[in-house]
Amino acid sequence: MAKSFEIVVIGGGPGGYVAAIRAAQLGFSVACIEKHINKDGDAALGGTCLNVGCIPSKALLDSSHKYIEAKESFKVHGISVKDLSIDISAMQDRKDGIVRNLTKGVASLFKANGVSWLKGAGKLLAGKQVEFVPAEGGDAETIAAENVILASGSVPVEIASAPLKDNLVVDSTGALDFTDVPKRLGIIGAGIIGLELGSVWRRLGAEVTILEAQEVFLPMVDQLVAKDAIKQYKKQGLDVKLGARVTGSEAEGNEVTIAYSDNSGDQQLVVDKLIVAVGRRPVTENLLAGDSGVNLDERGLIFVNSYCRTDVPGVYAIGDIVRGPALAHKAMEEAVMVVERIAEQPVQLNYDAIPSVVYTHPEIAWVGQTEEQVKASGEAYKVGTFPFAASGRAMAANESVGLVKFIVHEETDRVLGVHIVGAQASELIQQAVIGMEFGASVEDFQLMVFAHPSLSEVVHEAALDVDGKAVHIAKRKRKKK
Ligand code: FAD
Ligand code: AMP
Repeated sequence: MAKSFEIVVIGGGPGGYVAAIRAAQLGFSVACIEKHINKDGDAALGGTCLNVGCIPSKALLDSSHKYIEAKESFKVHGISVKDLSIDISAMQDRKDGIVRNLTKGVASLFKANGVSWLKGAGKLLAGKQVEFVPAEGGDAETIAAENVILASGSVPVEIASAPLKDNLVVDSTGALDFTDVPKRLGIIGAGIIGLELGSVWRRLGAEVTILEAQEVFLPMVDQLVAKDAIKQYKKQGLDVKLGARVTGSEAEGNEVTIAYSDNSGDQQLVVDKLIVAVGRRPVTENLLAGDSGVNLDERGLIFVNSYCRTDVPGVYAIGDIVRGPALAHKAMEEAVMVVERIAEQPVQLNYDAIPSVVYTHPEIAWVGQTEEQVKASGEAYKVGTFPFAASGRAMAANESVGLVKFIVHEETDRVLGVHIVGAQASELIQQAVIGMEFGASVEDFQLMVFAHPSLSEVVHEAALDVDGKAVHIAKRKRKKK
C-alpha cells in the first residue's frame, strides 16, 4: 500500500527540518525528504546552512579571528606570541567536525521525535501526492500527503563571465574548503557571503580584492553604518572595489585573469583563486510536476501569501524558495508558522522584525528600515547614534570601533530601525528585535537599565541620543525640555 503522511516536507534544511520536528511535536505523522549526500558520501540533513553555509562559515570566521587577534591584537594587552602559525588542515578538520556533529544531531532529533527521513529526491505531483526517488536507487514511490511543505532552498548563482573551474574559480561551497591560503584572492560580489569569506582568507594572509558592480556598499544597511564598516574593512586590507563589474575571466594554469569595468574603463586583475559570490537562486527545478498547480513569481520564487500558502490549498513553501530575506532564521520561523497554522493555531510572522548580520569583525547587524528608506517614505523621523569608542566596556575589551544608530518615528517615538557596526553586533541587535516586536518606543529603550559596564550600553546611549540625552559623549546638541 502507498505510504501516506499528514505532513510531507521536501528539503531538510533549516526550513524543512524545523517544520518536520515541530510537526512531530504537534502529533502529526510526518516525513521529510532530503537528497543531500555530504563529502563523506553519507546522506545528511541540515541543508545549506549546516553543511555549506552559516555553520562552516562561522567556524572558519572564528578560527581566523582567533589567529588575527593573536597576531595583531594581543600585544596591546601585553601578551606576546612567538612562532605563531596556523594549520589550515586542522582548522578545516575542526570545521568539518562541527558540521558532522550538527547534521547528525538533526538526524537524532528526527529519530527522537519520530520523523521519517526519506533519503532521496521529492517532487510535488497534482493532488498533494509526492513522488519520492530514493538516493540509493530503486523504484520511485508515490506518497500521499494531507499537507506538503516545500523547502528546497537555494544554490549559488553562476555567471557566464566567471564559470566555475576546478579549484581555481569556486563558489561559496568551494571557498569553505580551501586547503591552503591563496596569495592573491579575488571575490566577485561584496554581499554578506563575499565579505565573510573574504575576511576569513584575508585574516589568514591572502591579498583580497572584492569586485562589486554596485556603486553603493551594502545598500540594505544604513549608509552611515555601511560607510563606517567599509572603512574598517579597508584598514584590514580588504580591497573592496565598488562600481567594478566583472565582464569576463580566464582560468589557466594556476591563475585567473579577471576582466572588469569601472568608471575609468576596462581593467584587469590576476589572482590565484576566484570566489564567485553573486547571490543565490531558488531550487525549483525537478520540484514541481507540470500539473502541480503551484506557481512561481516573476523572480522564479515560489509564489506564496503572507502565511506561506501556495496557490494549492494544503501546499506551503518556506525559506529561500520564497520571498523575503534568504536567512536561516527566517526559514525556521516560517516553518513553525506553517506547521502551527496547519494545527489551527493562529500564528503569524512579523517580517518587519527579522534581523540580518554580516559576521565580519566588526560585525554588522540591523533590523528594520535604514534612514535612507525612511527618508524616501516621507515619514518624519529622528536619529540617534553612539560610538563604541565612548564605551568603557568596549575600551576594556579593545573593541572601540563602530557605532549604533537608531531611526525613530518623530511623532510616535516608534523605533523604525536599528543598525549596528561593532563587536558583538549579532548579539546586540536582538535587543532591538525584542523591543520592536513588543512595539517599543525609543523612550522604552531610554528608561531601561543596562548593565554597566557592557557593550549593551552603546545601544542605550544611542537610544538616549535620539533625544539629545546621551551622557557619555561631549559636544552633542542638547534639546531643551
Ligand atoms: P536550504 O538550507 O538550502 O535547504 C534545502 C534542502 O533541500 C537542501 O538540503 C537540498 O538538498 C534539499 N532539496 C532541494 N531540492 C530537493 C528535492 N527535490 N528533494 C529532496 N531534497 C531537496 N543564513 C543565516 O541566517 N545566517 C548565516 O550566517 C548564514 N550564512 C551563510 C553562509 C553561506 C556561505 C551561505 C551559502 C549561506 C548562508 N546563510 C546564512 C543562508 C542560509 O544558509 C539559508 O538562508 C538557509 O539555509 C535556507 O534554508 P532553507 O531550508 O530554505 O534551504
Ligand atoms: P548578495 O546577493 O547579497 O549575495 O550579493 C551579491 C553581490 O554580487 C551583489 O551586490 C551584486 O551587485 C554583485 N554582483 C553580481 N554580479 C556581479 C558582477 N558581474 N560583477 C561584480 N559584482 C557583481
